[in-house]
Amino acid sequence: MKKLPDKTIERLSMYRRNLILCLSQGKKYIYSHELANDLHITPVQVRRDIMLIGYSGTLRKGYDVEEMIKLIGTIIDTEQGKNVAVIGVGNLGRAIISYINGKRSKLKIVAAFDSDSEKSGKLYAGVRVFHLKELETQILEKNISIAILTVPGDVAEEIAERLITAGIKGILNYTPRPLNIPSHIYLEEYDMITSIEKVAYHSKSAEEMNYSYR
Ligand code: ATP
Repeated sequence: MKKLPDKTIERLSMYRRNLILCLSQGKKYIYSHELANDLHITPVQVRRDIMLIGYSGTLRKGYDVEEMIKLIGTIIDTEQGKNVAVIGVGNLGRAIISYINGKRSKLKIVAAFDSDSEKSGKLYAGVRVFHLKELETQILEKNISIAILTVPGDVAEEIAERLITAGIKGILNYTPRPLNIPSHIYLEEYDMITSIEKVAYHSKSAEEMNYSYR
């Protein structure tokens, strides 16, 4: 199957989360309009995505929830799963470790790294922290292919370079510093400060807007 667009993958991940919830509530079939309604998108979009991954439900009953979860899994996941590392075990790094680990059987945070020797050897949500000097050996040893960056922005670029040289294939960058990395490495950037500032800007009342331009 050819590569699917980013937005489609995002929606497939959202469908799966919703379908897992449905299953836990005992719902075995779901119509496209129900999925669409839950995710605030159009039923046409849902049907298009589902057709794209080669599934068709029955008109009468809708989609088989369990089958869809399995099918989406074959697209998003790999059979053996992926090992993930978190670099930077500050407040954000620790929160991410606790939040992500155990949520997806095919994505496992298997190590964390920090330059602070005080943190070496500690366990957070069952994940061991290694000193940064062990980055390359641990990546190889633990077959880590994805890295989540939660270090300060000014060291992000140099850590990313080391990760790529060590064989990492994808990076989720939570630092405020945009990364410039080779195109064969998949990069997803998520700058929380920019996101909250966007929300703050769009939540300004008309009065506040007038005031700021006076
Ligand atoms: P956070 O920003 O996640 O809330 P914090 O305020 O505790 O954390 P930061 O200064 O942002 O700390 O650093 C995040 C983590 O990154 C810290 O644990 C710090 O020790 C670690 N760190 C700093 N520089 C490096 C580096 N070059 N390599 C790896 N880890 C680093």
